[in-house]
Amino acid sequence: AVSLLLLSFTIPLFAQKKTVKDAIDVKVEALLAKMTLDEKIGQLNQYTSDRDATGPISKGSNKLEEIKQGKLGSMLNVRGAKDTRFIQDAAMQSRLKIPMLFGLDVIHGYRVTFPIPLAEAASWDLEAIELGSRIAGREAAAAGVHWTFAPMVDIARDPRWGRVMEGAGEDPYLGSLIAAARVKGFQGNGLGNLDAIMACAKHFAAYGAAVAGRDYNTVDMSDRMLWEVYLPPFKAALDAGAATFMNSFNELNGIPATANSYLQRDILKGKWGFKGFVVSDWGSIREMIAHGYSKDNAEAARQALTAGSDMDMEGRAYISSLAKLVADKKVPLALVDDAVKRVLRKKFELGLFDDPYRFSNAEREEKELNSPKNRKAARDVAAKSIVLLKNTNQLLPLSKNVGAIAVIGPLAKSNTDMKGFWSVQWDNDQLVSLYDGLVNKLGGESKLIYSKGCGIKDTTRSGFAEAVAAAKKADVTIVAVGEAFDMSGEAKSRADIHLPGIQEDLVKALVATGKPVVVLVMAGRPLIFNWTADNASSILYTWWLGSEAGNAMADVLFGDYNPAGKLPITFPRSEGQIPIYYASKSTGRPSTSDKDIVYRSAYIDSPNSPRFAFGFGLSYTTFSYTDLKLSKTQVKNNETFTASFTLTNTGKYAGEEVAQLYLQDRFASVTRPVKELKAFEKVMLKAGESKTVTFTIDKEKLSFYNAQMKWDTEPGEFKLMIGTASDKILLESKFELL
Ligand code: BGC
Repeated sequence: AVSLLLLSFTIPLFAQKKTVKDAIDVKVEALLAKMTLDEKIGQLNQYTSDRDATGPISKGSNKLEEIKQGKLGSMLNVRGAKDTRFIQDAAMQSRLKIPMLFGLDVIHGYRVTFPIPLAEAASWDLEAIELGSRIAGREAAAAGVHWTFAPMVDIARDPRWGRVMEGAGEDPYLGSLIAAARVKGFQGNGLGNLDAIMACAKHFAAYGAAVAGRDYNTVDMSDRMLWEVYLPPFKAALDAGAATFMNSFNELNGIPATANSYLQRDILKGKWGFKGFVVSDWGSIREMIAHGYSKDNAEAARQALTAGSDMDMEGRAYISSLAKLVADKKVPLALVDDAVKRVLRKKFELGLFDDPYRFSNAEREEKELNSPKNRKAARDVAAKSIVLLKNTNQLLPLSKNVGAIAVIGPLAKSNTDMKGFWSVQWDNDQLVSLYDGLVNKLGGESKLIYSKGCGIKDTTRSGFAEAVAAAKKADVTIVAVGEAFDMSGEAKSRADIHLPGIQEDLVKALVATGKPVVVLVMAGRPLIFNWTADNASSILYTWWLGSEAGNAMADVLFGDYNPAGKLPITFPRSEGQIPIYYASKSTGRPSTSDKDIVYRSAYIDSPNSPRFAFGFGLSYTTFSYTDLKLSKTQVKNNETFTASFTLTNTGKYAGEEVAQLYLQDRFASVTRPVKELKAFEKVMLKAGESKTVTFTIDKEKLSFYNAQMKWDTEPGEFKLMIGTASDKILLESKFELL
């Protein structure tokens, strides 16, 4: 029954195939006509390189032979002009000389490591984010890589899930803009250019909604939630031209994403008209056996291909089973052909048939990698990614004339951890630690008193005394706490997301000295540190900032850059509040309603509010929001109108503010979130300067999936909110949609 159902989903695919053929289609068809079934299946097969000291393919491996026999269309984890040439040489010995496609997880930089994606999302700076991906793409392309498995555009509302570090946070609007920026960055001026690599929007779909934040876990969600929250960034990536998609490990409502025709055939290749190809996640075809969905590799292969998974990453299900499935008429050859054509088309678009070695150029590699220009961009966006969470008494920025500085904490001298999870750079020495950044900034070590205090996961306080003594000697203490680079990332789910080990006790001991303390939290996810949040005077959330981490932190600490980052994800007070996100719905008994109502939608042992809200982040200066004007308060359907206000820098430093516009459709055929981000603008203002900020509101921003799941507006009242954070609305108005 399952297979019949799946096959019926394939009909729309054939129905919509009558598109006009372009020059590449003609070439693809001609090549396809020459291919044996085995060669076709080879194009759908992807292995990892298993490098050893002898080269990218280990001695005992048969992979080189398989390449020569045309059994492999793509390889991941091969890079560098030399290694990619070596593999391409083997592909050129195959009968049809179809070039090999090289993929790699270039997630946040190649040679130069950029901040982790969640950190960059905190910049709310689409240009900077695009530039980061542009540079990563350029470096990777110069090193022979054709394809990155990025961006990860999964919405994530559960910080227990380690992969929150890899995405843009909790919000579909911000997430969609960032998804598009990253795709544009990687793909530059289009495939075929030597500095453009293919992007891959992943993981399709809803991978971030794993139950209890446990990686790979079951996802069960309404179609409404899927369409409203989880799909928009994928659609945005597609509209920005994403060449490929990756499916995901999770099941969605009972069907593994890898065999999910609704996702891959109906939505992606059907309704959305995606022309690229879908790669499975690593082994996700084979893993459908463990899911309890496919009884063996052959069944998994049939289900995956039928559902629209074009390439098998490390599953060995296609290569082992597809030929027989086609011979037995269990899989129509037309489905194999369609998948192969999609893959070949990308190889043509990349120009690999003109010159299979065109990306593998040692000279370009030498010139592009780790260039000062690339490092400067990484430093800029790293500074922009930092979020100032607290700055009581304006302790920050520090003056360079400050006396002695105690530099404390397990992460103060760490460069390795600055790379964060999913870094592919290979030399930790090129990462700048906080300590090194301070040395660079101050021109030497003379003012710095270093003491580690404790390790990240330590349970012994034996180092505290020395750290406290250092703080007592110093005029100001900077303490660096957080996670090691491998504590957030794939398969790094955590049930306890408090600051690990005894690090918060170290902060307590330092604060107890009575000396001013600046806390820097370096992590891949929102952590919980309630005592610190209540008692430390200054807190910077610095995530994992990449190659230039220390320099960027020093720029912010000393005010050479005024922090402007805003949280792209809600920080809870306790794990018990998770999932917690700003775009929640009200209830019949809201937590803030009439105090007489005893039974409220609230905890009896915790506030409902988060520790730090989505969109929150301070600056060294202050801003006022005044004079809100709506060009219309009665709006016709299809009419565009504006909301403008005056933003003034009321403090003493120049700085940027990310002004945020939220809307609420008050009453609708389905209940709407209490607020949804619909626009934002990052504005630079000198001290004392004012600017008019204007947001344009069109029908798109007022639309939602109505009770019939149709994307449309409904007449009625809307609340309009403008503020500095999702929980700090400073201007409010309403309008009516007629
Ligand atoms: C991850 C993907 C990644 C792939 C290849 C998988 O485990 O889920 O995001 O692209 O490995 O490294």
